[in-house]
Amino acid sequence: MILPIVAYGDSVLRKKATDIDADYKGLQQLIADMEETMHSASGIGLAAPQIGKSIRLFIVDTETALKILEEEKDEENQFWGEKATKRVIINAKAVDKNGNPFSYNEGCLSIPKIREDIERPSEITLEYVDENFQSHVETFKGLAGRVVQHEYDHIEGVLFVDYLKPLKKRLIRKKLENISKGEVEVDYKMKFPAKK
Ligand SMILES: [Zn+2]
Repeated sequence: MILPIVAYGDSVLRKKATDIDADYKGLQQLIADMEETMHSASGIGLAAPQIGKSIRLFIVDTETALKILEEEKDEENQFWGEKATKRVIINAKAVDKNGNPFSYNEGCLSIPKIREDIERPSEITLEYVDENFQSHVETFKGLAGRVVQHEYDHIEGVLFVDYLKPLKKRLIRKKLENISKGEVEVDYKMKFPAKK
């Protein structure tokens, strides 16, 4: 089932999400629904707060984005030739961020039509459990490193626009207000906090 994606301005996107147990009710269905929702919106990552649940769960799938690079023969792209990463990440704790910081144009399904260059370290190491509650310690690099940092921020209540400098933030303030009111065109299902 495709779930509506919560738009910028909803308080659930600002909460620090909580850990879940293996017996969390309906977990496998929730994961399947999140995957369907993410793919239908052409996303490469989706965090549970974005569908209104303040729990430490997010999914990452870089396959589509990497396939597009391949189809466009975009060999200049910094992520060219990478293997796709597909993960379900639960109860994540960041243990380290490493590698040379670089700038990359990010977007977010909760903040449609806004893309900005954001600088982040190139790698992040997480302790987490997967969909079967098996423990992992894993370092994510490349495009996956980028997406995992963005999604990890979501379960900490942080959004990519928070990293913008004050001037840039002022420039997009009106657009952000409009998004929370539903005054934005999107081709996937959304839930707007301030829609009248
Ligand atoms: Zn996002």
